[in-house]
Amino acid sequence: MKIIFATHNKHKKSEAADILGPKWELQGLSDIGFVGEIPETSDTLTGNALQKARFVKERFHANCFADDTGLEIEALGGKPGVYSARYAGEGCSYSDNVQKVLREMAGLQNRKACFKTVVALILDGEEYLFEGRVDGEILTEPQGYEGFGYDPIFKPDGFEETFAEMDASLKNSISHRGRAMQKLVAFLENHTK
Ligand code: IMP
Repeated sequence: MKIIFATHNKHKKSEAADILGPKWELQGLSDIGFVGEIPETSDTLTGNALQKARFVKERFHANCFADDTGLEIEALGGKPGVYSARYAGEGCSYSDNVQKVLREMAGLQNRKACFKTVVALILDGEEYLFEGRVDGEILTEPQGYEGFGYDPIFKPDGFEETFAEMDASLKNSISHRGRAMQKLVAFLENHTK
């Protein structure tokens, strides 16, 4: 069965394909010849995930899903949240974002944070939402070189290493996106033959 993942990110696509298994023929945006960016103008993760999934459904008339992720830091009132990708400004690098968070948290004792992912699925015209979350803390300096984004400063609860010090399979098994994707797959298993 075919399903479209509304992403250009090859890493995310292969991660999703691993979790979905061979029953699903997963196509990313480049596989279906879509080269542009899908608008993400909502101020919530759910709004953005739905916006991307609806965009694909309207254009390609196929079953599809989209995700949106944010890092929420308690002492920063939930920032960067839905603005995680461009926290340090338009065109910023992952490292710019990390440095901005570290500056804003300098001297703060409360280091609690969580990653949240919302996956929006449109299956046979019906919309469904799945959320994944992982709690942890923000370190005072980066550690590790794996992964991407805020991984070098995020240490999940119950582990001694940051996401950037874990191998991908361990990170995926406990991460926000991994958990949301596992819920999506369990749902698809139950709702399709
Ligand atoms: P997206 O919605 O998956 O594109 O994620 C938005 C932003 O959140 C990314 O640009 C990253 O800065 C950050 N982010 C998302 N997932 C992760 C992750 O697994 N580790 C670290 N940062 C992440």
